Amino acid sequence: MTIAGTATTADFKKICPLVSRRTTTHDYGATETHRVHVKYVTFGDDRPVIIAGPCSVESYEQTLELAHTVKSCGGDMLRGGAFKPRTSPHDFQGLGIEGLQILYEVGRDTGLPIVTEVMDPRLVEQVGEYADMLQIGSRNMQNYPLLVEVGRYGKPVLLKRGMAASLGEWLGAAEYIAKEGNFSIVLCERGIKAYPSGEYSRFILDLNVLPAIRQETFLPVIVDPSHATGVANMVEPASRGAIECGAQGLLIEIASDRKDAPKPRCDAAQAIDPPTLNRIVEFVRGRELRSVGANAYA
Ligand code: PEP
Ligand code: MN
Repeated sequence: MTIAGTATTADFKKICPLVSRRTTTHDYGATETHRVHVKYVTFGDDRPVIIAGPCSVESYEQTLELAHTVKSCGGDMLRGGAFKPRTSPHDFQGLGIEGLQILYEVGRDTGLPIVTEVMDPRLVEQVGEYADMLQIGSRNMQNYPLLVEVGRYGKPVLLKRGMAASLGEWLGAAEYIAKEGNFSIVLCERGIKAYPSGEYSRFILDLNVLPAIRQETFLPVIVDPSHATGVANMVEPASRGAIECGAQGLLIEIASDRKDAPKPRCDAAQAIDPPTLNRIVEFVRGRELRSVGANAYA
């Protein structure tokens, strides 16, 4: 069978036999998803996982406040960057180890599992001591030494799609992690570069990839509507669209709506307020109930 575009099933089997749904060694059939467990949270069952939090960890107070927002809205996990991949080296790079310590403490104090980005293969173990799940960012999707290192380390990995990556390249990246014996991989579509990128939104959210990826691999896939759009008022509709197209979770950036809260130092334009997160979670949980037995991709 040919996937629309350039890659065929034969190509996928060659690039990523370990994570392809079509290889005979796996028993996931045509639709079943591999479950990835991060503490008590499970990716890949019928219940979409909601991860939310700040773009970057800026203080204990900010992170704790937003963790309480995530919890009270019914979210499952806390996100937050301690090491930030910024276009300019002159921009805020994150709090580094101090940010990891804050995330660890907030995770411990609220019970929320933590996901944070690791950019340097030499820091995988150190970041892994603080985090429950390691994020590979879009810019590092093809950093092969980093993929090998998180594969060897063994903790669950959130693998974002490279902003210009094909499906084959993305699954090839997942294969590097799986080849080291780590199948706790969750894929994350976060928008791709295409002709109108930057004109009305930051990237183009590729919803078409969701049914394609669910057909090609048994790994769970979630969507980041925040980086995909870059515009706060697009995040809610993009989240709904993603869930309707088969996303098994969402990764969302939020900020406090208190008048005296400092403006986020990173990605302020795409951060949604707590009431918007609440509506998104209500939509996701409501759809879950409406679609019991009727989800084409479940
Ligand atoms: C992030 O989620 O913090 C991030 C930087 O995203 P991306 O790698 O998708 O740009
Ligand atoms: Mn961000």
